Amino acid sequence: MSIQQNIEKIKSEIGSAQLICVSKYHTEDEIMEAYNLGLRDFGENKVQDLIKKQENLPKDIRWHLIGHLQTNKVKYLIGKTHLIQSVDKVELADLINKKSFDAGVTTDILVQVNSTGIESRFGVEPEKTVEFIKEILKFKNLNIKGLMGMAPICDNPRPYFENLKKLFDECKSLGILNGDILSMGMSLDYKSAVDCGSTMVRIGNKIFA
Ligand SMILES: *Cc1c(COP(=O)(O)O)cnc(C)c1O
Repeated sequence: MSIQQNIEKIKSEIGSAQLICVSKYHTEDEIMEAYNLGLRDFGENKVQDLIKKQENLPKDIRWHLIGHLQTNKVKYLIGKTHLIQSVDKVELADLINKKSFDAGVTTDILVQVNSTGIESRFGVEPEKTVEFIKEILKFKNLNIKGLMGMAPICDNPRPYFENLKKLFDECKSLGILNGDILSMGMSLDYKSAVDCGSTMVRIGNKIFA
């Protein structure tokens, strides 16, 4: 199938959820193909890739950082993202806040939750997420727009997405989020994610393959 057919198929399956095109393994020419088909939101894993592609590509692209963010890279990134989806440490949030303040901007972020059930260095543990968000609420140059998470690669990802949705609803009802974004679902599992309440899917392979 062509990129166009892939995008049309995905769009027909995700309802009102927003499609983020994950371009981390793809060239600027490939990104332009997706851009010319109407996509404007692109996701990168690495700060240096995001910056380089942003320099060379149309200015109306909204860039999402979806990969792990090291504190020593924050200074290069501020003001360049539409959404940083991978905030999972207080020190990281603190630094993004400080650099945003210095630059006179507010940075939109998602809190990355370790929703896989697998021990990981990345993502806040689900049971610590409310406490984490309450702690970073004091950072006035951050806008906490929602949560990001993933399911492990498995036959039935739904329970992972359902748990993430429950946590999202809890955060919403506590009034600690400043947005309605629940970013979950990738090439292999986006349909389950959307069924479980995802508002944003991050898809690479399935678009470009
Ligand atoms: C790579 C990546 C994706 C997209 O994965 P595909 O399998 O190519 O759809 C989504 N989210 C994150 C955090 C990723 O690193």
